Amino acid sequence: WDAGTTCSKAVLGDSDIENQSSNIKVYVRTRPLSREELNKGESNCIHVSHDEKSLKVVEQGYGYNITTRSFQFDGCIGPEVHQQDVIKKVAMKKLLDKVLDGYSSTVMACGQTGSGKTYTMCGQEENQLCDIQGGDNGLIARSATYLFEAMKARGQNVSSGPKPFIMRASYFEIYTEQVNDLLRLDNAPRDVKWSSRDGYYVDNLLLVDCDTLDDVFSVLNEGSRNRKVGSHELNKDSSRSHCIMTLHIDSLCQVADDAPPITRYGRMLFVDLAGSERLKKSKSSGEMLKETGSINRSLFTLGKVISALSEGKKGDVVPYRESLLTKLLMDSLGGKSLALMIACVSPASSAIDETLSTLHYATCANNIVNAPAVNLD
Ligand code: ADP
Repeated sequence: WDAGTTCSKAVLGDSDIENQSSNIKVYVRTRPLSREELNKGESNCIHVSHDEKSLKVVEQGYGYNITTRSFQFDGCIGPEVHQQDVIKKVAMKKLLDKVLDGYSSTVMACGQTGSGKTYTMCGQEENQLCDIQGGDNGLIARSATYLFEAMKARGQNVSSGPKPFIMRASYFEIYTEQVNDLLRLDNAPRDVKWSSRDGYYVDNLLLVDCDTLDDVFSVLNEGSRNRKVGSHELNKDSSRSHCIMTLHIDSLCQVADDAPPITRYGRMLFVDLAGSERLKKSKSSGEMLKETGSINRSLFTLGKVISALSEGKKGDVVPYRESLLTKLLMDSLGGKSLALMIACVSPASSAIDETLSTLHYATCANNIVNAPAVNLD
């Protein structure tokens, strides 16, 4: 997050955009203090307002000097909010319904390592990440559950012929400017290519047919396991990789009674970004330097892209092409996609600098205007 950039309100006024645009929705989630933090005597420095639209960060300085900073977002999710309620609080269903209509939607989790990104997206990390009953299931499992219910409801009148919906899943990570397929660990990095129809995409990525919810859960568990195994084998730090799980949905659509049905393609991207904490000075030699440099590049470029878009810049002046992550998120940030960001923060007083940095970025992201063909509001 050390882009050293500023952000300002996006410039609106273009009536075409105004009619069809939507700011990226930004939510902040704060987790409870961990047992370890409580044992160390850490105090809670984040207070969410009653209406859940703002939060205060309280910094205890020397003596009785207290600084309070306030931030406003589309929503603030306090430590007491259960996993099952997060999907409602961030109005995820609007994005999921649009995916079934043939649009692209993205949800991104950002924040420092240990702030709750993986918990929010995937759920509890012990044993299996998710199961059908799982009270701790994260956004991906709950979104997939909703999609299957919605596909069933929408396809109820179709009794014969081809299936009205086909779901497939892919899961990859970006680590040191290299894309690895988390569903096929063959140690062969995948190329990122460009086509005029799809924009930037990962070539030769395994897409797994998902006929049931269990299939999606298997993909999620397999990908997360491979992320861990890969990181142990290659001695890499998994908190430094960006993971993108995508649900691809083809839907058959009857546009006119006498015309053959057409296929629409929608996709839901779940992005678990690498930890945004400043890199330790100890990690600055040899292989670690390579790792540090390229991890920095992705997050640094993401910061620059967010900052440029928040100032209303468009087109080639936005530096999407400077990293793989921003190439692959081009459509999600300032493009045609519906997007929401969940900034995860630790409530611990010792993490206050990282927390403020995350909140600053979240504020910039909130000013980005996407121009999808539909409006979120
Ligand atoms: P990150 O992915 O940002 O590195 P994790 O999601 O792994 O962080 O979270 C770190 C720890 O905090 C995990 O043990 C996780 O279970 C716990 N945790 C995170 N968010 C919450 C929450 N909202 N409620 C309860 N525990 C949480």
